[in-house]
Amino acid sequence: MDIIDFLIQKNILDEEKAKRISTEAESSGKKPEEVILENEIVDEEALFQAESEMLKMPIRRVEVQDVPFKALQLISEDSARYYKIAPLALDGKKLEIGMVYPKDLTALGALQFLSRQANFIYTISLITPSTFEALMKQYRGLKGEMKRALQELEEEMKKQKAIKEKKQEAFTRLVEEAPITKMVAVIVRNAVEGGASDIHIEPSKENLRVRFRFMGDLHSSLFLPMRVHAAVIARIKILSNLKIDETRVPQDGRFSMTIDDRNVDFRVATFPTALGEKVALRILDPEAGLRNFEELGLEGSNLEKVQVAMKKPYGLILVTGPTGSGKTTTLYTMLRQLNEEDVNIVSLEDPVEYLIQGMNQSQVRPEINYDFAQGLRQILRQDPDIIMVGEVRDSETASLVIHSALTGHLVLSTLHTNNAFGIVPRLVDMGVEKYLLPVTLAAGMAQRLIRKLCPDCREQIKPSKAIKELIVRVMEGAPADLQKRFAPHLADLKIYKPKGCKRCGSSGYAGRIGIFEVISMTDSLAEIVLSDPTEARVAEEAKRQGMVNMMQDGVAKVLDGVTTIEEILQVAQESK
Ligand SMILES: [Zn+2]
Repeated sequence: MDIIDFLIQKNILDEEKAKRISTEAESSGKKPEEVILENEIVDEEALFQAESEMLKMPIRRVEVQDVPFKALQLISEDSARYYKIAPLALDGKKLEIGMVYPKDLTALGALQFLSRQANFIYTISLITPSTFEALMKQYRGLKGEMKRALQELEEEMKKQKAIKEKKQEAFTRLVEEAPITKMVAVIVRNAVEGGASDIHIEPSKENLRVRFRFMGDLHSSLFLPMRVHAAVIARIKILSNLKIDETRVPQDGRFSMTIDDRNVDFRVATFPTALGEKVALRILDPEAGLRNFEELGLEGSNLEKVQVAMKKPYGLILVTGPTGSGKTTTLYTMLRQLNEEDVNIVSLEDPVEYLIQGMNQSQVRPEINYDFAQGLRQILRQDPDIIMVGEVRDSETASLVIHSALTGHLVLSTLHTNNAFGIVPRLVDMGVEKYLLPVTLAAGMAQRLIRKLCPDCREQIKPSKAIKELIVRVMEGAPADLQKRFAPHLADLKIYKPKGCKRCGSSGYAGRIGIFEVISMTDSLAEIVLSDPTEARVAEEAKRQGMVNMMQDGVAKVLDGVTTIEEILQVAQESK
């Protein structure tokens, strides 16, 4: 049934009017609703009440100013106007879309396409044309502010030219002028309010492109004329104390800005390209990335060993794994637990990723000789209790880290090895005296990140024979307590596979979690360290200790339905 029939049925339209509307709609290509409203045959409210009744969809009323900028980013203004679809609300990846014509197949097709492109899932609500028009004004926000700032800038530039000052002076003054300052502030504020994680300002042949990263994906947000390029970059450099006239080498810096009563930090990196300098800003949300051990995936005996090591008054805790395996997040989680008023925590990082209240964090600057080793020497004069060093990269840092642990400090750091057994041999390779290790190394942990199954759509399956054999074999090698926990399940094995639903954007996965292995210093490990610290010997001792290795921890997470066997096999392959 279409709206005309429905209105006749409701006695809102008579046959004759209905026929006129149909004819006009057909000849003009307009929707019957549009014809009705244009000719004021039925008022909007009554028409859409009927529409709502017919479609069995309530009319969605929205406070237009509540639509988040991030939601607007997902549907361009052009698409929104053309298809009469408007973003209303965003919850994670779930976008609520307001549609004036929810049964419009072309619009629905477009929406499906957009959702795949921008990686969101959506629900549809019915809105009236007036709500739709009000929503469209939202798009004007960012662009409008920018346009005004640009106009002011143009006038400023004209004036400068007229004065014909010395070039450099004129430029410096221009950068300090209100329009450029405002422009940068508008970009930054919109990104933060929209919940973006990064801002990229990039020169191209035609224009200066501003892109925001939301939920992992980059979206073009704004195009500015290239003539503001130098001034915008310079303004950001001034904010972050970088050299304005140095445009040929990358520079790093950071600055803070108060946005909506919140203090937000930005990490800035400039990069020279063929078309000029680009700048990337990472928005550092003080809350993001801070999780507890359970959320990290650290559990059972592995967690116990870490907690024992953290309680020691001095010693070294090392986290190892490749880049992107979540080592830094693990260090921050430990530091947050250790962060109490009566302890002095000092960190040396490259770069500082999250600011933790009450901690003294500093960033290494190798270009001015302030590297990890140099920084550590300085730090030791600050009377710290706990020291975090971003990474042990060279023998000088290794020896300083050991020395710090030996002189009564708890030291946390990261190292590059494939697994926990590799830590001792690696330190020995770096020139650390073997006999210092048993007294200093409190715990060594290795980790990887794996994808978590979406809990809403994962599907239970019976594994293939090969997978089943693999799982049984891994579990047979596991420590007794882990074996005991899963023994009842091994006879009738059930695991899960990804399916995909609206919540997880059809990927079947949602979020990531770590798999871990932790080795702690024992008398027998000490003996091995002193005599023959090879990976093989350390591995034997780990097994004797009842260490749950990454593979076993991973398979346990498969059996718990947290992830898939494929995820584990993939990282297991990489850690060989
Ligand atoms: Zn799902």
